[in-house]
Amino acid sequence: MTRHKNSKKVIRKEIYVVAVMFSLIFVAMAVYLGHFVAIDSRDFIYNSYNSRFSVFADDVKRGSIYTADGHVIAKTATDDENKEYRDYPDERLFSHAVGYVGKGMAGLEANYSFDLLKSHISLDEQINNTLSGIKNPGDSLYTTFDYEAQKAAYEGLNMFDGAVIAIEPETGKVVAMVSKPDYDPNTIAKYWDDITDDTKNNSALLNRAIAGAYPPGSTFKIITTIAYLRDNNGNDDFEYNCKGSITVDDYKIHCSSKKSHGNENMLQAFSNSCNSAYAYMGINLDRQAFSSAADNLLFNKDLPAALGNTKQSKFYIDTDTPESIVAQTAIGQGQTTVSPLHMCMLVAAIANNGELMEPYMADKLVSEEGDIVSETAPKSYGRIISDSEARLLNQYMEAVVMDGTADSVDFGDLSVYGKTGTAEYSTNKNMTHSWFVGYAKDSSGKKLAIAVIMEGAGYGSKYAAPLAAKVFNAYFDK
Ligand SMILES: [Zn+2]
Repeated sequence: MTRHKNSKKVIRKEIYVVAVMFSLIFVAMAVYLGHFVAIDSRDFIYNSYNSRFSVFADDVKRGSIYTADGHVIAKTATDDENKEYRDYPDERLFSHAVGYVGKGMAGLEANYSFDLLKSHISLDEQINNTLSGIKNPGDSLYTTFDYEAQKAAYEGLNMFDGAVIAIEPETGKVVAMVSKPDYDPNTIAKYWDDITDDTKNNSALLNRAIAGAYPPGSTFKIITTIAYLRDNNGNDDFEYNCKGSITVDDYKIHCSSKKSHGNENMLQAFSNSCNSAYAYMGINLDRQAFSSAADNLLFNKDLPAALGNTKQSKFYIDTDTPESIVAQTAIGQGQTTVSPLHMCMLVAAIANNGELMEPYMADKLVSEEGDIVSETAPKSYGRIISDSEARLLNQYMEAVVMDGTADSVDFGDLSVYGKTGTAEYSTNKNMTHSWFVGYAKDSSGKKLAIAVIMEGAGYGSKYAAPLAAKVFNAYFDK
């Protein structure tokens, strides 16, 4: 009897041990799965070379991507054989902004792949769908893009290579972003070899708006002006008598169209875009002050922007730099390169009284049932330009449009503040990029900053500034 009792106890103990072991294994598996879903799967899906993201797409139909004003710009469609594919209704219009799925992933499609393949509809609906064999609808991504502004930027660039980027100064929301040459995300896989053919040398996959490296031309006079103000305790009591050219160390710099601008103060030198005055200003600047002004204005730094792989702008001057190079640097020639995004961020900061808001283009994730799953809050980088510097630059940039290099451009009823640029990029001085950077303000005080570059187009006032006017009008005329 006692023996029997004992053996029963032993069996009970063994069952207990096995049960505990199974429980532990179960807990370990649950923890691992939880960890995989929460962390590892994000890395797994974020890898754009991962062709197996469809593991998740088995249960969830990839969500759509919208503009801020509700135009669908990417969606999941099904073909005649009931096979899913990604559809981009506007073809090339948003190619660099939204990216693609099809040959790996890029752009917002890559960065938000995990979120587009998550469903936040109610649990009841999810269970109903699963039992009925229907996929759950993934969350949708609402971007910050304005459909009409994007279209105006795209059509305005026309056949030119180049880029347009427009940002709301108070928030950092990217309203338009176009880069050409471009590609049709619908057929990216089919034409992949052609698009990536190096011998054609057109870099269609490169987003020039954020990763282009261009000579800034006269748009750089904004930076030289700020360096001058910082080197002179904020005073703009600059004077110069322009004779149409200046010679520095045997290197002759001409004013545009070899025009003599005569006696100028700072505002006139800026609005006339006088090369002689700015070359003179540059060589008389303390080099350390010039260099640190550029650093403080985000040169040689990663830009604070949630837009993907941006390119650092380059600026370099030291005590050994020949004077003729300093003179060229002051007017935006020489070794300096900038991205259109960087120039747009600088004018956005000027428009926002010196405070820089970090650019972003993913506004919110919304479930199929219309609930907001997550939303991006505007983020301040802090002040990069002082209040008084911003005030002076506003006056100078207004003079450019009122009676300076952009006075022939029709901006309609908007108040516009800007700087044109005509940047040489070849030893042939007739080959120039056309630049416009600046911002517009409507009667309600709403603002939009922009940077436009048209490669090889010529004068900024003739090409880039009228394109900016089209984007401003498309954005504000609603
Ligand atoms: Zn001049």
